[in-house]
Amino acid sequence: TAAHVKVMENTRHLNAYITETPDVAMKQAAESDARYAAGKNGALDGIPLGIKDLFCTNGIRTTAASKILGNFVPHYESTVTTKLLNDGAVFMGKLNLDEFAMGSSNTTSAFGNVISPWKRNNGDNADLVPGGSSGGSSAAVAARSCMGATGTDTGGSIRQPASFCGIAGIKPTYGRCSRWGVVAFASSLDQPGVFARNTEDCAILLKSVAGHDPKDATSANKPVPDFVAALGKSVKGMKVGIPREYAVEGMPAEIQKLWDEGKAYLKDAGAEIVDVSLPHTKYSLATYYIIAPAECSSNLARYDGVRYGMRAEGKDLREVYENTRAQGFGEEVRRRIMIGTYVLSAGYYDAYYTKAQKIRRLISEDFLNAYKECDVLLTPTAPSAAFAIGENEDDPIKMYLNDVFTVPASLAGMPGMSVPAGLSGDGLPLGLQIIGKPWDEETVLNVSQVIE
Ligand code: GLN
Repeated sequence: TAAHVKVMENTRHLNAYITETPDVAMKQAAESDARYAAGKNGALDGIPLGIKDLFCTNGIRTTAASKILGNFVPHYESTVTTKLLNDGAVFMGKLNLDEFAMGSSNTTSAFGNVISPWKRNNGDNADLVPGGSSGGSSAAVAARSCMGATGTDTGGSIRQPASFCGIAGIKPTYGRCSRWGVVAFASSLDQPGVFARNTEDCAILLKSVAGHDPKDATSANKPVPDFVAALGKSVKGMKVGIPREYAVEGMPAEIQKLWDEGKAYLKDAGAEIVDVSLPHTKYSLATYYIIAPAECSSNLARYDGVRYGMRAEGKDLREVYENTRAQGFGEEVRRRIMIGTYVLSAGYYDAYYTKAQKIRRLISEDFLNAYKECDVLLTPTAPSAAFAIGENEDDPIKMYLNDVFTVPASLAGMPGMSVPAGLSGDGLPLGLQIIGKPWDEETVLNVSQVIE
């Protein structure tokens, strides 16, 4: 832990942490030493982890990277972090993210953007984004200031930053990990998950955080398999589906090449590669960018300057609400609240929201139909390597396009994982995505380990 604290200090320029908690970490490490000495160590005893600052941590400031929660100190601990603590983990601090997890580059944080520890090898020395929204998580793990981190994935926020930073990250099936104590963005999509440097560590962390929680109504009452014991199986005879609609127009050649290499590699390892169709893929982004803002506008209605966090001045209650929200939310969050309010408004509800819900169902059915022909799907994680900070910034639509491969599995609630699989022409990490059947994280992890 002391060594990781040093790395955390030496990598401060990356801005991966919003709140560093070295004292907490050292105290937890000492407690873990004592347990170890008494022969009572837990599965994660002494393991330094970073926590995305969207998970409420008892007595430790939890900001969601928003000004509106800038001084919010919860007096409860999220279920996911409680489970990690029960297994003996050590918390290095709270990790930066896009404000309320809305973004793909960690540039919407009220606490400044995160810089990826990676540089292009072309000598341009540009500061690159770590991906988002869990950009602090991916940067911190890649920079070695923690051995693993929590994340949340609503439309790709674990998988895409893992891909950009050359680490592994898994978003389990919706309902596998409790959302209790996680600041809500879009509740029907939000799913906690984990990052680590490799698949096995992801399996160990996932085993710790998964499981039914009566405090989250959408948490599934399913037994948690031993994800670690499931590793190491051969992919011989496994059917790996290649969704043809993911070969999107304008896909960079190096991404196509990575995908082809992944297919060839799994084939050599004994898997059968099958061509499958997810016909409604092209509607995924439009559907996601209606449903996610709709749920965001409803979830974020609670920040009124009265119940949580910051409060602005105003001559009456209405003005307090308005000023608090105008000053407390950043531009992207305000944009989403406006889109969400619009698509939920009386005149447009059916045209946008109801329609999006119907298409969401079709997208889910696409996956279930594809799984009649294959066990798992293989796709690129993102359509590009990490881009420079500031790129894509003036055009929200261009930023949203970065989610093209991750959003469908989110809408369908399927488990998905990104595993480092190659390098771009500029020497940046690229990930492949493995999408599994509902509740079949074991196969996802297994295929990931074969590729890594
Ligand atoms: N990039 C997507 C968005 O901006 C996904 C974010 C997430 O998964 N939290 O909504």
